[in-house]
Amino acid sequence: MNVTTILGEKGVEVITTNPEATLLDVAKRLREYGIGCIVVENGKGGIAGIVSERDLVRAIAASGADILKAPVSRCMTKKVVTCQKSDTIEALMAAMTDGRFRHMPVVEGSKLVGLISIGDVVRSRIAETELEAAAMRDYIATG
Ligand code: AMP
Repeated sequence: MNVTTILGEKGVEVITTNPEATLLDVAKRLREYGIGCIVVENGKGGIAGIVSERDLVRAIAASGADILKAPVSRCMTKKVVTCQKSDTIEALMAAMTDGRFRHMPVVEGSKLVGLISIGDVVRSRIAETELEAAAMRDYIATG
């Protein structure tokens, strides 16, 4: 299984914002869509950064609630690790574990074309494992 398989199942929609949006705007969008992370676009279809609920918590803990009026560019992660449609689920799991993050934007060239979360990865691994177990049971039953 690879990134294309997951995108085929979950779709390619990505919730994004722009670098000038405030952290309060970001918090509202996270709540509205029931997600944990937003990609910050650069205005040309590419990625300027990524901001997750963890960045919001850190910013509030460090600077107080007034930071919510600041632009997202102040606390987003600018060095974003991305993946490609041809990447395997194993490669994504390794990158997320090594980098200690739970989201990876999918790019084609520099264009944003999807987003994979740790939840998507876990779901796909469970589906794969169930398929393997069923095949094994079938093999044992039919000799
Ligand atoms: P997360 O676990 O995805 O909520 O994010 C944890 C931290 O990693 C936050 O500081 C995010 O801004 C950052 N982060 C999330 N996804 C990525 C990514 N794909 N590349 C680099 N940093 C990321």
